[in-house]
Order: sequence, then C-alpha cells, then structure tokens
Amino acid sequence: MASVSDYPFFFTWTAQHAAKPLEITGGDRAHFTTADGGTWLDLGTLSYQVNAGHGRRPIVEAIKRQADELCLSAPNAVYPAKTELARRLLAMAGRGFEQGKVFFTLGGAEANENAIKMARLVTNRLKLVSRYRSYHGASMGALTLTGDWRRPAVEPGVPGVVHVQDCYCDRCPFGQKVETCKRECATNIGETMRLEGPQSVAAVFLEPVQNSGGCFPPPPGYFDRVREICDHYEVLLVSDETICAFGRIGGMFACEDLKYQPDMITCAKGMTSGYSPIGAMIASDRLFEPFRTGTTYFPHGYTFGGHPVSAAVAMTNLDIFEREGLYQHVREQAPAFRASLERLLDLPIVGDVRGEGFFYGIELVKDKATRETFDDDESERLLRGFLSKALFDAGLYCRADDRGDPVVQLAPPVIIGQPEFDQIEQILRSVLTEAWSRI
Ligand code: PLP
Repeated sequence: MASVSDYPFFFTWTAQHAAKPLEITGGDRAHFTTADGGTWLDLGTLSYQVNAGHGRRPIVEAIKRQADELCLSAPNAVYPAKTELARRLLAMAGRGFEQGKVFFTLGGAEANENAIKMARLVTNRLKLVSRYRSYHGASMGALTLTGDWRRPAVEPGVPGVVHVQDCYCDRCPFGQKVETCKRECATNIGETMRLEGPQSVAAVFLEPVQNSGGCFPPPPGYFDRVREICDHYEVLLVSDETICAFGRIGGMFACEDLKYQPDMITCAKGMTSGYSPIGAMIASDRLFEPFRTGTTYFPHGYTFGGHPVSAAVAMTNLDIFEREGLYQHVREQAPAFRASLERLLDLPIVGDVRGEGFFYGIELVKDKATRETFDDDESERLLRGFLSKALFDAGLYCRADDRGDPVVQLAPPVIIGQPEFDQIEQILRSVLTEAWSRI
C-alpha cells in the first residue's frame, strides 16, 4: 500500500504520515523498524508515548503474566494491579494528593474530560480556560479546550471554554524579551478570568511545557503567578501532563520539575510507555472531599478504565524507570541534549531552540534577524515537501510541525545519551542546511 488513503481506517494529521504510512513492525530501545526493513531513531516516541523505549521484554512478560491471571475489567472490579498503580500515582503526585483519588481512563483526552466534569461539579461553575495553541485531546470536551487549528472543526463544542495567550517567549504576544518579561502571559489568565466573571470560571487547563504549536516552556515564575491567580479567584488548576509526565521533563510528574501545585493532574501515554492503553485523572485531596459522604455523585465508570493488563504494564514500566534511574538520567543529560541542539543555532534557518528535559522544539525562520517566518506556501514546500521526508530518509523519526510556525519537535525515548545527541545534531545539521539551500 502506497498511500495513507489506501487503508481501511482513518489517519490523522502529521506531515510524516502524509509522506509515508508508518508500517511499524517492532523496535529495540530508541529505534523502531518498519515493514520495508527500515530502522529509525525514534525522536517522537511514536506519538510521545514510548518513554522507556521499544522492545522492553519485561513489559511483554508482564502482559502475559497478567493476562494469565486476570484479563477482564469493569468499573467496580478491584484487583491488585489497579490498586497498586493508583497508590503509586498518588504517592508520586505528592503533597496535596495523599488522600486524593485516581480516575482511570483509556487515554489523555478522557482524562481531561473527567477533569472538566470534576471541576464543574466541585466548583458549581461552568467556564474553562486554556491556551490558544494548546491541544488537549480529540474527544469533544478536550477538543473544545484545544486552542490550536483543530478547534474550529468542533466549534461551538462544549459551552464555556475561553482561550488565553500562550507562553511563546520567542515571539512574546506582549512584545517582551526574556529580560523584561513580567509574566504577562500569566497575568493574561487572571485578566481573562476577571473579565469573564471569576465566579463563573471552574478551572484552567495548562500543560507544563506546551506541546502543540512547537514546545513552549513557561517563563520563570509563570506557574507561581498562575497558582496565585487561581487561589485568588478559587479556580482549579489542571496540569495536563499527557505528554510531560513519566520522565519527559525529568520527574514522574512535570509539575514537580516546574515546582507548582495543581489541583488535578491528567496523564496517559508514558504511563505504560505505550505498550497498553491507560490514562488517569488524579484529583487532589480537597477535590474528593464532597464525594466522601456519598451524597455527591461523580459519574465515572469506563468499562476498560484501569484494565488489569494496562495497570500491570504501567507498574512494570514504572519499575523500569526506577531500576534504570531514568528520571535521574533525564535530569542529568538534559543540559547535554540541549547543548547539542543549541549548536544548530549557527545555521541561518534555526531561529530558536526551546524546551525542557527530553522535550525540545527547533523553530525554523526565513530571516534570523527579523524572525520573519515562512508563508503558507513556503511552509508547505519546506515541511511537507522536503523536511519531513528528508529527516525520515536520514533515519530520524520526528514531527516537523507546520501547524504553528515551522518547528521540528524532538521527544525521544528518555534512555538516549551523548552518542544519540551527536547523531541527532549531525543529521539535523545536514538536513536543515539542505532545506535552507532549497528556499
Ligand atoms: N493532552 C495533551 C497535552 C496531548 O498532547 C494529548 C495527545 O497528544 C492528549 C491530551 C490526548 O491524549 P490521548 O491521545 O491519549 O487521548
């Protein structure tokens, strides 16, 4: 089969999928293989989920063991893997979550749906705040929260969603530089709440480092300010960690790395490193309070939420993280990864390198001095016409994202080190040099 449209199921959006259907057959650590015999260095962890890497036998063994023991789930079914995983997540979520609860789902979008539901029930308010370039999942509520190019497809969506500015420091929407930044993007959240009527706002949904649009870390002090604003208006803060949890930024949860206290954490993908589907909405102690008496009803209950196989996979995956010191590895190696990518700043096409941990975006520009970006036509020719395919042909699988400004995004398995950093730099250097000569 040559084209994605030849398949009897529906594909989504990435430029690389458009260039070549990914007939994946397996993988080993940071590489995966495809049906045509090719091997790729996986810089996208497929879809940001294979954090512990490919071909992990202990995870496959855990699947077999759990399937032998118990392979059925139901919302009211109790089994050790589910209980142990929930305890582990709450313990790692830390302060404020000790007496909290985990609501298991099948992925990140459903986790956010439940965070919406919880926020509205607990606060008795309707409105939700999220950022313009964000992505929060493909279900109806999550897609309405989403601010990026996918949002118009479902508008008006669920009622009450309001969008605010992103932390786009390289092109600050408030015209600031790093040196002059007064966290206006955080203040914008408070100002929006004030104008909307803070007593109508239930929650704000933020990613620790925003993926969609090109990998945006917050400026220093951003989350401190957001927390203050949320406390002031009694609005809940939801940390959407569907991508950023499980070592992507360094810790099990990125709010720990960035040192802020959310009221809910939503997560999925890296919890099982993608070997089996699971997601979770983790609610802090105080949110669960109204439900303790049994008079308030939280309508939750996915048949497959916290399935024993997925829960067992998650436990084994998290054991691997601890046994191999992967959280520590990311914290130690992140500066070297960043440094190797920053060396690319000497290329005329590289306008910005940004990110945290093992999660980076390289923004491409037409004019470095003026930060002029590419028009739609050039973006199409550069990203779809050349870059995605050229990176793929050079053995790198990563997302070249043309949904905002042109950005190459890197989120490799969190096991790689200096040899791979060097290889990545060398391949990107040669492909980006070639891209520049074609403009
Ligand atoms: N939230 C964020 C920040 C995401 O990046 C994604 C998916 O990429 C989702 C939610 C949706 O997760 P899922 O595809 O598991 O539903």
